[in-house]
Amino acid sequence: MAGAAAPKRQDTRKFFENLSGAGKSIAVLTSGGDAQGMNGAVRAVVRMGIYVGAKVYFIHEGYQGMVDGGDNIKEATWESVSSMLQVGGTVIGSARCKEFRNHEGRLKAAHNLVQRGITNLCVIGGDGSLTGANLFREEWSGLLDELLQQGLIDEEASRRNSELHIVGMVGSIDNDFCGTDMTIGTDSAALACGADWVFIPEMPPEDGWEDSMCQKLSENRADKKRLNIIIVAEGAIDSHNKAITPDYIKELVVRCLGFDTRVTILGHVQRGGTPSAFDRILASRMGVEAVLALLEASTNTPACVVSLVGNQAVRLPLMECVQMTQEVQKAMDEKKFEEAVRLRGRSFENNLSTYRLLSHRKADSELPNSSFNVAVLNVGAPAAGMNAAVRSAVRVGITEGHKMFAVSDGFEGFYKGQIKEIKWGDVGGWTGQGGSLLGTKRTLPGKHLDKIAEQIRIHNINALLVIGGFEGYLGLLELSSARDKYSELCVPMVMVPATVSNNIPGSDLSIGSDTALNAITDTCDRIKQSASGTKRRVFIIETMGGYCGYLATVGGLAAGADTVYIYEEPFDIRDLQANVEHLTQKMKTSIQRGLVLRNENCNENFTTDFVYQLYTEEGRGVFDCRKNILGHMQQGGAPSPFDRNFSTKISAKAMQWITRTLKDSFKGGRVFANSEDTACLLGMRRRALVFQPVSQLRDETDFVHRIPKEQWWLKLRPLMKILAKYKTSYDVSDSGQLEHVTRVRPKESNTSATI
Ligand code: ADP
Repeated sequence: MAGAAAPKRQDTRKFFENLSGAGKSIAVLTSGGDAQGMNGAVRAVVRMGIYVGAKVYFIHEGYQGMVDGGDNIKEATWESVSSMLQVGGTVIGSARCKEFRNHEGRLKAAHNLVQRGITNLCVIGGDGSLTGANLFREEWSGLLDELLQQGLIDEEASRRNSELHIVGMVGSIDNDFCGTDMTIGTDSAALACGADWVFIPEMPPEDGWEDSMCQKLSENRADKKRLNIIIVAEGAIDSHNKAITPDYIKELVVRCLGFDTRVTILGHVQRGGTPSAFDRILASRMGVEAVLALLEASTNTPACVVSLVGNQAVRLPLMECVQMTQEVQKAMDEKKFEEAVRLRGRSFENNLSTYRLLSHRKADSELPNSSFNVAVLNVGAPAAGMNAAVRSAVRVGITEGHKMFAVSDGFEGFYKGQIKEIKWGDVGGWTGQGGSLLGTKRTLPGKHLDKIAEQIRIHNINALLVIGGFEGYLGLLELSSARDKYSELCVPMVMVPATVSNNIPGSDLSIGSDTALNAITDTCDRIKQSASGTKRRVFIIETMGGYCGYLATVGGLAAGADTVYIYEEPFDIRDLQANVEHLTQKMKTSIQRGLVLRNENCNENFTTDFVYQLYTEEGRGVFDCRKNILGHMQQGGAPSPFDRNFSTKISAKAMQWITRTLKDSFKGGRVFANSEDTACLLGMRRRALVFQPVSQLRDETDFVHRIPKEQWWLKLRPLMKILAKYKTSYDVSDSGQLEHVTRVRPKESNTSATI
C-alpha cells in the first residue's frame, strides 16, 4: 500500500439513517478485464443503493453500454442480484470500449446518463477504467455545455445534472492499482508463495539469470525436491525490456536440465471459478462503502476510490491513484525498476523482499552466526497455514544466523523432549500443505513447567515462537507468569495467532480462518445448488467456532446468508419468529434459496434441530428445509492464498522481532528477558501488525467463552443484514475517511509494522 496519511478521527458516532439516497440515481458498471468478486461488488452497490432509497441502474458491457445507451442501461431490482455472489467474472458484462477514449464517445455517454438523471457513477475496473472515469468527471460540465448547445438537453436538465459523482472500486486481478492493498479478485488469483522462481514485470532478473535459475533448480533436485514451480507473470521482462515468456522458460529448462516441464497458463484458471470468500467479503464491504461515499459526495469532495488497507476501509482521491499508477508505468518504461517497486508501496515491497528471502538459500558462509537457538511449535487444533508459518520462521531464522528447533505436538511434545533441529531444506514444499506437519496439541504447559524449563536448559533454547490458537495464548500467559519461578523461561517469546475460529484477543485475523471461510462458503454454494429445480428451499447450517461467531457471520456474508445466529448477539423467540416471517415473505418472490447459519454455541436451547423444526413448520407451503452440520471439513485442506501469504508475512515479522529482542536481552554472556514486552502476541490490528505483551491482553479477554471482549467483525453484521433485506441501524463512523496517496511512508517501529 502506498502509505496513506493517518486521518484525524471524529469520535462522534454517525448513523447512516441520516444519509438518504431518495431522489438520487446511481449507476454501476464493470469495465476492463473481468475479475473475481466483481459480482459481489455489484450486488452490494445495488442492494445498498436500494436500501437508502436511491434508484440503481446497471450499465451492461462497461463503457460501451454507457456510450450505446438503450437497453444497456437498466434499472436494477433487489431480486435481480440474487444468487450472483458465487458467480465468477461479471454478470453485467465488461467490454473494452474504444469510443469512450474519444471525446465524441464520452459525449454520447454523458447524454445517456443525463436522459436518465444519473449523476452518481460507481465504476468497478482496473487502472484504465478508472483513468477513463477520472477524465469523464473532469470533462463533465464541458460535456453538459456541449449537449446544451447542440440542443440535446435543456437548461433544466443541465442544471439538475450539473454534478457528477464518481466512486471507483478496483477490480483487477493484477493487484496493480496503486493505493490499494488488495484489489478485488487478487485473492482468488494470487499464489506466489512457495514458488521456486518468480518473474514479474517490476523485478527483471539480472543478466545471466538463465544460468542461476537452472543451477538452483538442479540443486533443488539434488535435495530430492520433485516438483519445481516457476511463475511467469503477464508482462515479465528481462533487464533489456525483452519479454520473458513461459515457453522460453520451458525450452530453457528442458534444454539445460532435461526436466519434464509443463506450462500451465493460469489466465483462465485465475479468472474462472468462483470467487474466494475473501474476495466476496471485500467486494461486499467495498460496494457498501462506495454507496456511502456517493451519498456523502459534494461539490468539494474529489472523486475517490474505496479500498481496504489491512483491515481498514479508506477512501483515496481517484486522481492521486491514477497519477501514482502512471508514475509506476513511467518508471517501468524508463527501466527504473527499483523506483517502480518503491512506488507500488510498502506492502508490495515487503512481499517481494520476503519472497526473495524465503526462496533463495544463502550459502552457510554468507550467514551471520548468532549462536542463538530458537524453538518453534504449533499449539491447539490444526489450522491451514500453520506449515507456511513454520517454513517462513525457520528460513528467516536461519537467514538471521540462528539455529532453529522444531518442537512436535505442542507443549506436550515440549515437556516430553520431542525437540530437534530443523533445517532450510526440511520445510521445502510446506507452504501449500494443510494441517500441522510438526504436530499440534491442545495441552497447556502449566502443569509441566519444571519439565519444560529442563528442556529449555538441555537444548539451550534462547527464544520461543508459538504458532497456535487460544491454548497457545493461554500457554504463553502461563509461561510468562512463571518467569519468577523458572529463570529458564526468561527468554523472548512470541505468538502468532493460528486458528480457524479467529478468537484470539489482540488480532483482527488469525491464520487458517480464511481457509475455513472458503470451506464454508464452498459448501454453502454446493448445498444451495444441490436443490433441484425450482422448489423453494431453506438450508440451516451449523458452523464451528466455539462461542466465537466469526466464521458464521463472515461465512454468512460471503455466502449471502439470510440470517446468522451467534452467541455474541443474543436472540430470543421473537427474533426467531421475525426471521422466519421475513424469510417466508422473501421466498414468496422470485427468490428460491434461503440460507440460515447457526454458530455451534450460539444458544444452548435454540439448537440446530430446534431452528430447523421451527423453519420447517412455519415455512410450510412456501419452502421446505434441510439442515447440515459442517464438521471438521471447516479446518480446510490446503491453505488459501490469503492464509499462505498472511502466515508467511506475519511469521517472518515475528522472527525478526525475536532477533531484535534477543540482541536487546543478551547481557553478560546470556539471554535474560523478563519484562512484559518480551512475551508478546503479534496481531493484525486495523492496518498494522502490532506486538502486544500477552499480559496486557488479559483485560481484553473473555476467558470463560474464549473470545476477545471486543470483536471488530460484529460491525459487519448490519451490513450482512442490509444485504439480506433487513432494516437495521448501521454505524458508519468507521467507514472510510478520505486520505491521501503519499510518497512518504511511515517508519516501522519496534512494536508495529506495516502489513
Ligand atoms: P482495465 O480497466 O482493466 O485497466 P483497460 O485499460 O482496457 O482495462 O480499460 C478499460 C476501458 O476503460 C477501455 O476500453 C476504455 O473504454 C476505458 N479507458 C481506459 N483508459 C482510458 C483513458 N485514458 N481515457 C478514457 N477511457 C479510458
